[in-house]
Amino acid sequence: MDRAPEETTEIRARLLAHKAELRRRVTTIHEHARNPLDQDSAEQAAQIGNIAVVSALETEAVQQIADIDAAIQRLDAGTYGICVSCGEAIGEGRLKVRPAATQCRDCAELDGRRG
Ligand SMILES: [Zn+2]
Repeated sequence: MDRAPEETTEIRARLLAHKAELRRRVTTIHEHARNPLDQDSAEQAAQIGNIAVVSALETEAVQQIADIDAAIQRLDAGTYGICVSCGEAIGEGRLKVRPAATQCRDCAELDGRRG
């Protein structure tokens, strides 16, 4: 897929901005997770429940950061915007919503992912 250099620059800037936001989210999650469990037991139980949620959120954010890094690598390699499963172009509309998407909508749906 041929992209103008300025378009590639814009996509890269968008990906990096998204990555920075995810990094901030992970930092915030860590700060929440570090809260000491020195409350009464009911509060502790709630905290432990929160930690499970928090670690799921963190895993998701870390995965998204990895996806963005992979997208930037594909941008450098000139394969950005091409579905890794079928080799067809991923629609521009989809890339706007999910800049790190590696699959076209059809393949993502076949894989049972929402998006
Ligand atoms: Zn595909």
